[in-house]
Parts: sequence; C-alpha cells; structure tokens
Amino acid sequence: TLITNSEKQRLSLELKQRQENSKASDVAKKMQSFREKLPAFKERSRFLKAVAENQVLVVSGETGCGKTTQLPQFILEEEISCLRGADCSIICTQPRRISAISVAARVSSERGENLGGTVGYQIRLEAKRSSETRLLFCTTGVLLRQLVQEPELTGVSHLLVDEIHERGINEDFLLIILRDLLPRRPDLRLILMSATINADLFSKYFGNAPTIHIPGFTFPVSELFLEDVLEKSCYIMKSESNYYQGNSRRRRQQESRKDPLSELFEDVDIETHYKNYSTSTRHSLEAWSASQLDLNLVEATIEYICRHEGDGAILVFLTGWDDISKLIDKVKVNNFLGDRGKFLVLPLHGSLPTINQREIFDRPPPNKRKIVLATNIAESSITVDDVVYVIDCGKAKEASYDALNKLACLLPSWISKASAHQRRGRAGRVQPGVCYRLYPKITYDAMLEYQLPEILRTPLQELSLHIKSLQLGTVGSFLAKALQPPDPLSVQNAIELLKTIGALDDMEELTPLGRHLCTLPMDPSIGKMLLMGAIFQCINPALTIAAALAHRDPFVLPLNRKEIADAAKKSFAGDSCSDHIALLKAFEGYKNAKQNGKERAFCWENFLSPVTLQMMEDMRMNFLDLLSDIGFVDKSRNASAYNQYSNDLEMVCAILCAGLYPNVVQCKRRGKGTAFYTKEVGKVDIHPSSVNAGIHHFPLPYLVYGEKVKTNGILVRDSTNISDYALLMFGGNLIPSKSGDGIEMLEGYIHFSAPKSVIDLIKKLRGELDKLLKR
Ligand code: ADP
Ligand code: MG
Repeated sequence: TLITNSEKQRLSLELKQRQENSKASDVAKKMQSFREKLPAFKERSRFLKAVAENQVLVVSGETGCGKTTQLPQFILEEEISCLRGADCSIICTQPRRISAISVAARVSSERGENLGGTVGYQIRLEAKRSSETRLLFCTTGVLLRQLVQEPELTGVSHLLVDEIHERGINEDFLLIILRDLLPRRPDLRLILMSATINADLFSKYFGNAPTIHIPGFTFPVSELFLEDVLEKSCYIMKSESNYYQGNSRRRRQQESRKDPLSELFEDVDIETHYKNYSTSTRHSLEAWSASQLDLNLVEATIEYICRHEGDGAILVFLTGWDDISKLIDKVKVNNFLGDRGKFLVLPLHGSLPTINQREIFDRPPPNKRKIVLATNIAESSITVDDVVYVIDCGKAKEASYDALNKLACLLPSWISKASAHQRRGRAGRVQPGVCYRLYPKITYDAMLEYQLPEILRTPLQELSLHIKSLQLGTVGSFLAKALQPPDPLSVQNAIELLKTIGALDDMEELTPLGRHLCTLPMDPSIGKMLLMGAIFQCINPALTIAAALAHRDPFVLPLNRKEIADAAKKSFAGDSCSDHIALLKAFEGYKNAKQNGKERAFCWENFLSPVTLQMMEDMRMNFLDLLSDIGFVDKSRNASAYNQYSNDLEMVCAILCAGLYPNVVQCKRRGKGTAFYTKEVGKVDIHPSSVNAGIHHFPLPYLVYGEKVKTNGILVRDSTNISDYALLMFGGNLIPSKSGDGIEMLEGYIHFSAPKSVIDLIKKLRGELDKLLKR
C-alpha cells in the first residue's frame, strides 16, 4: 500500500512516542537493567555503526551473550528513535519453530509490549503479527517460502540470519540466494549471527565481510569425562594403573561395600561401557553410534549430583524424544531419591507444545531442583540461565544420506567437538559449573572438529523443488555456489526422484503436480499423497498417514513388553499386511476413545503415545488448511464429499502407493518364505517392528515403504502390501517394453506385460488425473 510522506512522518512519530511510553513502564525498566548486563549491550553502538556502514556483517558470540534477543532489538530501537520506524521492516530467521516463538515473546516483553504488536513471529501455519509489526521472528523455512512471492525481499530493510554456525540446509540455501540478491538490493542490510564457531567461513563467503565478536562472560566450567565420573562413583580408583582391565568386578564389589553410594550405579553395566569406550577409535565410534544410550548411567549421574553437589539446575543432553520420555518414566517409577516433590523435571524438545516454556526459563520454587531433559535444541538456541550442571551423553540424532544406496537415516551419532564445547558452555552462566561427559576423554579426542553441514547429509528433493519454484536455474549449477556444495550424485538422485514422481518433466521444469508440491511445506512424497487423497476422496486416511510420516508414528516400543506391544499393533493391522493401515486404525480408535474421554486408557492399553497422536491431530488440521489454500479441498463442503472411499482399504493402499512410489519392494517367493528386493540395494529385509515381519507369503506382489534403514543389513521400516495394478496406475512413467506388446515401468526391475487394452485404459485414466492437477 502506498502511503504519503506526511503519513509516514506521522506514523514514525507515533511509533517513537509509543516506544518511549512502554519503556517507561516498571516492567520494561526492570528488563532494561537485565539487558544492560548482557555482553551484547556493551557492543551496542559498535554494532549499530557497523550495520549502518556495511551491507553485510557477521556477528559471533558465545551462546547467551544476547545475539538473538538484543541485536534485532537494537536495530528496531534505533530505527524507531531516528524516526525511520515507518520504513523499517526487520526480519530475523530462526532454524526452529520453538525458538522463533520464544524469542519473539521474550523481545516483546523486554520492550513492555504485547506479542504481535511491534514484535511478532511467524512459523509454518501459525503467526502472531499485525500491520504494526516491525520486527518479525520467523523460521528460515517461512522466509524461503516468502521468497517465492517476493524474490527481491521488497520492503525488508534488515535481515538477520541466526544460528548459521549450525549449518542447517535452509540456512545454507538462504545464504546462496542472499549472496546473489545483495547487489540488486543495495539498501538491504544483512546480519549473520553465529556462535563462536568458524565465523571466518561466513565472512569469506560474503567477500570478507566485517565481523564483530561479542566477548562472553562465563564462569569456569570444570569437565569430567567418564573415567572421572566413574571414579567419583567410587568404582575405580585413580591410583590403579589400569582402569580398563583386570578384576574390576571383584574390585567393584569391594568398593561397593566401602561406599553406600555405589548402590546408585548398580544397574549400570559400567565395565562393558568402559571397555567399549576406552578401546575406541574413530572407526569403532561409528559402530557404536547406533547403539543405545545407557539411561541408567544418566540417571545415576543425576542422582550423584543431587546427593553430592550444591544447588543449581541440571541440564541433560539426550538424543531425542525417546530418551527423554523413557528417562521421565524411569524417574517416576524409581521414585527418584525417595522424594519426587524435590524435583522439577522438565522436557525440552523442538516439537513440544509451547505451554511448557515458562517453567524452563523460570527459577524453580525454593527447595526444588530443576532438571531439564533436552535435545541439542538447548545447545545454542535456547538458554536456560540457571544451569550449573550439564550432563552430556555425547550423542545427537543426526541425519545422514548415502547417495549411492539412496539411503537416508536419522540415527544417534557422536557429536562434534564444537557441539561438545557448546554443551559444556551451558553450565556456568550464573556461577562456576560442572560438565559431566558420559564418555571417556579418548572418545572426545576422536570426535570430528565440526559436524558436516546438513546439505551434505540429507536427500535434496525438497530443496531442489524449492530451487525450481524460485526459478533459480538448474539445481546443479545453483547448488554449486553453496558454502560447501553437495555431491553431484545427491543432486542427480533428487532430480531423478522428482522426475519419477512426476514433479519435474524431462527438461527439469516443474509440472502442474510439481507446482502444487512446491506450495506444500513437506517432503514431496507426503505432499503427493495428500493431493491424491483429496482427488480420490479418501482424505481422512491420507491426512492421518501423512501426519505420521511427516512427524513420527505413534507406536511406542516398550523394551520389556515388546511382544504385547507388537501384538497390539498387529491387531490394528488385521489382515491388511500394512503398517500404514495399522497406524490408521490406531488413530481412528484413539479418536473414538477420545469422544468418550477414554483416550488415555486407550493409549496405555495399545502402546500408543498420546503426545504424538495429539500432534498428529494438529498436523492433520494444518494439512487440510494447506489443501484448501490451493483449492483441492473446499472447506465449506461436507467432509463426506472427500471421504467417499475412506473405508475402502484397497483405495487407501493405492493412494499410499501414489505417495510412496518409487519406494517399492518386490516380494519373490523363495521356498517356504519370501525374499524382498529393491532396485537400488538389491535384497532387503523387513524391520522387526513391522507388522509384516515374519509373514511368509504376501497376497500381493509388492510392498511400498516409507523409509529404509541400515543396521547390519538394510531394512524397510514401515511397509504396505500393494497390487501391481496400483503400481501401474500410480507408479512411474510407462514406457513400452522391447517386445512391443506389453508395458514396462520406468523402474527397470518391474516388468508388466499387461494386455494393450489395459494399458490404454490406464493411459486414459492417467491423462484425466493430469487434467485434474492442472487446475
Ligand atoms: P544468544 O542468542 O547470544 O545465545 P539470547 O539473546 O538468546 O542469547 O539470550 C540472552 C539472554 O536472555 C540469556 O541470558 C537468556 O537466558 C535470556 N533469555 C532469552 N530468552 C528468554 C526467555 N524467553 N525468558 C527468559 N530469559 C530469556
Ligand atoms: Mg541465539
């Protein structure tokens, strides 16, 4: 909207007046004194001067020094005070949804304002912003999507890209775009913010842009490795020459008689731990990274601290939600230290609802110890101030991608030294701290300096689709400009996949389907499943399965009651030979139970996670909104209009095939059983957690699957048995076979020789489907 200069002046004056008023409030004054103690405050004028004088600026500083909350705020205050408020639009990107929200909330409260006024946030499908908003915190993904409409970022005056040291795929992608954009937008200011890691790399990438370092203040944090932790627990005496061998079991028994404390560690198989760890080399490190974390050891360490160390919050780094929830359960069952009332145990995980936030930051009530169980989200983006003790398990879930086998995994792996350093730094913000590392020094020495950037570790299809929708040229040449360009084979795989699923044509241009997939912020296969679900009127199952694939499946695997849990899952599957149908039925059961207020019991009896199911419900709603935005669902119509075939399991399986293709396994009879083959890796097996594990003969000749994982061999995790007709209709492009009479699918190993009449019919149906997608 055009506004006149005089209106602008009036608006700028008004903003300034309002800023001064809210700053005068008592709350804001108290906040101001907190802010002035942050290391960033001392750099305020140097920072503002550098922003004014340079188009690109790199700022590094220890986590907690005030980069995220202060730097965008300094710019905002300055612009408003200098009566440029009407013209300023500051965007600060965050890699994670949870940090975008919590930082926006923090900054608006520091300014004594309501969230959604001058300061707002926007994350996928959720926003608090208004026409007043001058400083917007958003996820990097949201900004990337905004670029489709606004390739020049018109109207944005300052862009701050946060946490670039994490080298997330979105941030690396954004940096390529911005480097190309800057010459065309000389008035745009770009500020890159990073923890104290490798800031030079980014400065170089932007033609030696100036850097500012914010020196931190932290109290010293002492560091204990596994050997020291064990020693503290009185198992192993330092005076003994060799920790690793010998009759440590006997020694342990003697020790335990000496010290009642060692009871704490009695569940921990320390010898195995220790032997494994201490013979480590980089090679064997990789082998163990897949092995389970010993939660007993974590628990014992927490107990040790509670009994022997002074006050102060404990921050525990675990690998993911599984560990967090298991540890919470353990702590509950064991009636932690005999007095649950003394502890405030809080999970901190990227996908948790935001209501739990305040407690994480607030000081606990007197006589209560705060114990935060976190993933690596607490490593650099969220600062819990009062942490005195850090327990570092040394691992994080890490995505990896094997381009040769087209194999993507998300497994716990050893962190880098840089991460280990970050984790340690979380203690000692208010007083000297201690970091307990649950691995030996020798393991630490074998860790990589830095983690590989995500762009080198993940499949590139979603990114490639995005590059096409932003019209940035060919994917290969665009990505060659990245800070660390990905392997050309990964690029080729992504393009091939997008062609196979029909999102790109032979010229590598977007098809109508591809264009729709670009607008859906999710993996293209999940997007395709949703579109097909809408078109073929089985939207409810498509939404449910897509939500589980995009998030996680709701089945929990209790270690001690695995068989009963497996049986529960199998009973949901019935005779469908499908993990996806099992999931669908479980979700339907949950919804029914919920109507009677009995969902907790239902989840408990059937080994389902209520948190995941709730998350799936939310995601389903979001997905439905997205489909309605692009006109595939009309929400004013009755839901039954989109659910004509929702109870038709054959149809649902066909839709699954449409989404999951080319993740296909061929089932071949071999003697009494069945052997399974995929095109890329040859023989595979069914994951033991699948309802299809142990089935000797399948009624239909193929399985489609969500993901394959590598352990000893290669396993497909969740699969559904489908017919060759589903493949014929929804699989890849049809190409004539050599003999000329039948048809062969694009995937070389799937041979159909269907009669010409069938093929002609399929071609007509496919043609009609393409027309539907062109709207
Ligand atoms: P950095 O980005 O440099 O890591 P931040 O700007 O995130 O630092 O944090 C600066 C300080 O503000 C920290 O001491 C942190 O504890 C505090 N802080 C940040 N967010 C919140 C919040 N939501 N509630 C309370 N304190 C917060
Ligand atoms: Mg930060």
